[in-house]
Amino acid sequence: MIASFSDITERRSAELQARELDKRFRLIVENIADYGIFMLDPSGIVISWNLGAERIKGYSSAQIIGKHFSIFYTDEDRDDGKPARELKIASESNRFEEEGWRVRSDGSQFWANVVINAVRDDQGNLLGFAKVSRDLTERMRAEQALATANSLRLSILDASPFTIVTTDPEGIIQSMNPAAERLLGFSATELVGTATPSAFYDPHQIETRAAELSAELGKPIAAGFEVFVHKARSGGVDENEWTFIRKDQSRIPVHGVVTALRDATGSISGFLGIAYDVTERKRREEYTRHVAHHDYLTALPNRTLLHDRMERAFQRARRDDACVTTMMIDLDHFKRINDSLGHHVGDEVLKVIAQRILSCVRGSDTVARMGGDEFAVVMESAVGDDGAERVAAEIIERVSRPVYVGSHSLQVTASIGISRYPEDGANMQQLLMSADSAMYRAKSEGRKAYRLFSREMAHEARTKMVMEGALRQAIANNEFRMHYQPQISLSTGDIVGVEALLRWDSPLLGAIPPDQFIPLAEESDLIEVIGDWVLTTACREVRILERRIGHSVRVAVNLSARQFRQINLVDRIKTVLRDTGMLPCNLELEITEGVLMAHTSQTQSQLSELRELGVKIAIDDFGVGFSSLSYITQFPISTLKIDRSFVNHLPGAAADAAVTEAIMALGRSLGINVVAEGVETLAQLEFLRTRQIDAAQGPLIGTPAVAEHFSVQGFHFGEAISIESLTAEFDAMQRDSRKRIAILH
Ligand code: C2E
Ligand code: MG
Ligand code: MG
Repeated sequence: MIASFSDITERRSAELQARELDKRFRLIVENIADYGIFMLDPSGIVISWNLGAERIKGYSSAQIIGKHFSIFYTDEDRDDGKPARELKIASESNRFEEEGWRVRSDGSQFWANVVINAVRDDQGNLLGFAKVSRDLTERMRAEQALATANSLRLSILDASPFTIVTTDPEGIIQSMNPAAERLLGFSATELVGTATPSAFYDPHQIETRAAELSAELGKPIAAGFEVFVHKARSGGVDENEWTFIRKDQSRIPVHGVVTALRDATGSISGFLGIAYDVTERKRREEYTRHVAHHDYLTALPNRTLLHDRMERAFQRARRDDACVTTMMIDLDHFKRINDSLGHHVGDEVLKVIAQRILSCVRGSDTVARMGGDEFAVVMESAVGDDGAERVAAEIIERVSRPVYVGSHSLQVTASIGISRYPEDGANMQQLLMSADSAMYRAKSEGRKAYRLFSREMAHEARTKMVMEGALRQAIANNEFRMHYQPQISLSTGDIVGVEALLRWDSPLLGAIPPDQFIPLAEESDLIEVIGDWVLTTACREVRILERRIGHSVRVAVNLSARQFRQINLVDRIKTVLRDTGMLPCNLELEITEGVLMAHTSQTQSQLSELRELGVKIAIDDFGVGFSSLSYITQFPISTLKIDRSFVNHLPGAAADAAVTEAIMALGRSLGINVVAEGVETLAQLEFLRTRQIDAAQGPLIGTPAVAEHFSVQGFHFGEAISIESLTAEFDAMQRDSRKRIAILH
């Protein structure tokens, strides 16, 4: 027996150390929580299991050891033979790695990174497999989200109707979306890599913007890429309108926004430019601007645009020491066309006239429509240039040529007033007012003419303005009074009636004759209020007089043509009659031939209604107008008043005498009263008395002349007097009848 001993202390300790190491290593492996680490035998049975595996897969080592590892796979993978295939690969090439879905003990799935290594002994025999797996679900989800976000972003960029271009920090184009390609006409490949400003911007615009920006920021900004990104660079957003130049050189207005792109550290990694086409918006803006500045009918500039043009013309005139001429053009009697043929015909005429006026001026002059049938022309010229008058004459000539609308051939004439800057007004309002005064002068002097504004017109215009202001206060301030002028019967010498005449004593302007302020009241709307006051006062005062003297007195009240345009005129008169108790047959309304000539259906029906009411109608100032006899027979007229201008020249002037006789004969044969106005002398009275006797013996001989048939009114018998004086006059006549008879001798 041979015993050999060898000292194995060292080996033993090495073995112990190795075992200790092994134990520690196993401890480490077992306790690793992030990785699932486990061993399989060559057939795939789990033989060891660590903490990580337990955490990831949800099985405890007691549950899993001895089970086949294919339970970690999804049903499909298992049916597909995936577990066995993986082991085969690992045994053949020692290693298998993949990422894929695995199943936890609770059936839920997770995305795993799996590495399978073959484990062999020294001879190379397969001992089993070491499998390491990791749960990558979180990471995978994050990646998926990122991918989705990316594709979403790309599709947004692609589908976006906005032009989107990115550049690097220096402005080299990095990308552009399909909308950018469409808008610019360049493909991305043509532009990516080129420098931004030069690619599709207008260099002039860049310079302008650079200058603006420099001024805004108070420091020089170079006319280059910096212009676009300066604001974005300092954290702002740059928003501007630009014009892009397309590949085909056409231009397109865009609205653009530039922002800086920043990386994770916050430093600028590039710029993002977004722009969209604003052609349509510009077009709409342009349209709106046009509508706001032009007349819809004639497409001429309107008052607003005229104002702009005039302001600019004034500036130039001041600078160049030049002159600005303004014309106000008003069509004569244009209303008649509208009234008789309708507004559509009127509109067509206005369009034609607008073109004709335009054809008389230079392209640099402005023709504007001021509303209705009023036009204005503004012309710039050198001082002393009288071209404006030639133009005005030309306009008058061209406007008056016939206008054909449908089957109508119409003639329109124009009256023009001319004023000059700076002599006739320092601003648009004054200048137009001056031209207006001159235009009214042209109208009052016969129309179809032009007049230059003059100092005296300025004075008149100013007086008119002051007077109008005072007139507005007059009723409230109790400045009006009524005076009455007697009308005396030629046959009896009785006062058969009185004419009520308005008197205005203005504390500011003194006594103003009605000839001056009545036309002014007619121009403004004051005549209606004043007319009401006159009617009411006259009826009221005469009623008091009637009660005092015990018999009725006819009162004639003047009505202006304007009052006939009041729709409720008849109602107003009825109200006054009712309120004052005046008998309708004692009220006579004096109208002029003009009212009859206007001859609207409204006038006609108003006159008929008044007649039905029993109110009388007198034609004032008869003979000076152009009324034909037919008017007199057509309308329910009760009195003709021979105008003062005829009576004035009696008895000497043969023509006036003839007219007077004719009117008297006419009145007699139609059974209409005749009043001769403005009898100042005994000679005039004598003339009228003999003619009265002749007329009375004329066609209707034998018919006793009614006291009222012929009467006279004038200074010879007395001026218009207050109601108190008139009352005294009646009283005196009643007391002494000789006084009455004496009147006629
Ligand atoms: P009318 O209706 O023809 O009035 C007659 C005018 O002749 C009155 O002038 C009267 O004072 C004046 N007159 C009378 N007799 C003589 C005379 O012998 N010689 C001369 N030279 N003149 C004489 P008045 O009051 O200045 O009125 C002028 C015009 O003003 C009136 O002319 C009338 O058209 C208008 N008017 C006066 N009052 C009113 C009124 O209340 N309403 C309206 N709408 N118009 C009025
Ligand atoms: Mg009168
Ligand atoms: Mg008269």
